[in-house]
Amino acid sequence: MQVRDGFVGTVGTTPLIRLNRVSEETGCEIYGKAEFLNPGGSVKDRAAWAIIKDAEERGKLRPGGVVVEGTAGNTGIGLALVGNARGYRTVIVIPETQSQEKKDMLRICGAELREVPAVPYRDPNNYVHVSGRLAEELAASDPNGAIWAQQFDNTANRQGHYETTGQEIWEQTDGGVDGFICAVGTGGTLAGVAHALREKNPNVKIGLADPPGAALYSYYTTGELKAEGSSISEGIGQGRITGNLEGLTVDHPFQIPDEESLPVTYDLLEHGGLLLGASSGVNVAGAMRMAREMGPGHTIVTILCDWGTRYTSKLFNPAFLHDKGLPAPRWLEQAGT
Ligand code: PMP
Repeated sequence: MQVRDGFVGTVGTTPLIRLNRVSEETGCEIYGKAEFLNPGGSVKDRAAWAIIKDAEERGKLRPGGVVVEGTAGNTGIGLALVGNARGYRTVIVIPETQSQEKKDMLRICGAELREVPAVPYRDPNNYVHVSGRLAEELAASDPNGAIWAQQFDNTANRQGHYETTGQEIWEQTDGGVDGFICAVGTGGTLAGVAHALREKNPNVKIGLADPPGAALYSYYTTGELKAEGSSISEGIGQGRITGNLEGLTVDHPFQIPDEESLPVTYDLLEHGGLLLGASSGVNVAGAMRMAREMGPGHTIVTILCDWGTRYTSKLFNPAFLHDKGLPAPRWLEQAGT
C-alpha cells in the first residue's frame, strides 16, 4: 500500500521538475522543487510542521493549545492546516497589504486573523512584534498554553529543511546537484538546504535570488545591510540576518528585479504549464543567472514555492501591473481579467 498518513504525512517528498525551456536556454539542467504540491499549497507547510513538531517534542504545546504567528500568508496557511490536523487553534497576525486571496484562504482554513498596518521591522507595531506580544499574553491566559511559532528566528524552521528538503534534493539528483539557489523570506529554506547539500558535498555552490527592497544582496556582496527599490513579489525580501540565516555563506548572490522575474513567471505558465507565484519566478530567474555564472553542464536546483492562484488580483491582473508600471503579457491582456 502507498498511503500517506493524514495532512502531516503528506508534507514534503515533492517531485523535482526539469524546467525544459530554461535548461535548454542556459545549457544547464535547471530543476524546480515542486513545493506548491505540498498539501497546503506552499513550501511553508514544511516549516509549519517542523515548528509545531518541535514544540510538541519539547512539551510546549498541549492539545487545544494556540499557535500564534506573524506571517505574510503561506506560513499561516500551513500552521492553520497543521493545527487543524493536530488539534490546535491558530491566531495569525498579518500586514493588511497582503493579497486578499491569502487572507480569505487563512480564514477558510480556520485561522483567527489580526490585521495590522504594514510598518518596518524597527517599529514596535510591526506584525512580527505584535505576534510575539500576543503569544505571550495568550500563553499567560490560555489554560492549554500558546506558542509563538517565530518562523524568522526559530531554527526548527531551517532544521526541517535540512532534514527533509535538502536530503530529498540530494537523493532526487543522485548526488549530482552542483548548485542550489532561492530567495529568502525567513531563510529557512536556503539555510537548511545549503547545510544539507554542503554536508554531502562541500563543492555545492549556494546562490541567493534577492528581490529589490531586500537587504541581503547588499549584505552578501558588501557586508552591509542596505535595501533599495521595491518588488511586487510576496513572502520574500528580508532586511536583516534572521536566526535562520545565521552562519550561512553565499557563493552567488544576485538581485533580481521584477522586470526580469515576471517574464520568467509568465513563461513558466505560458510555455511550461506551471501556474506559480512571483517568488518562484525570482528563483528561476536566479537559477538562470547562476547557470550563466557557473557555465554550461551544471545541475542547478531551485524552489517552486507556491501556486499563482494565490495572486490572481495582483500578479495576473493587467490593471494592477499597469498601475505599477510593469508590462503584462499579451495573453493575459487578452484573457480580459
Ligand atoms: N516564497 C513564498 C511565496 C513564501 O511565502 C516564502 C516564505 N515566506 C518564501 C518564498 C521564502 O521561504 P523561506 O521563509 O524559507 O525563506
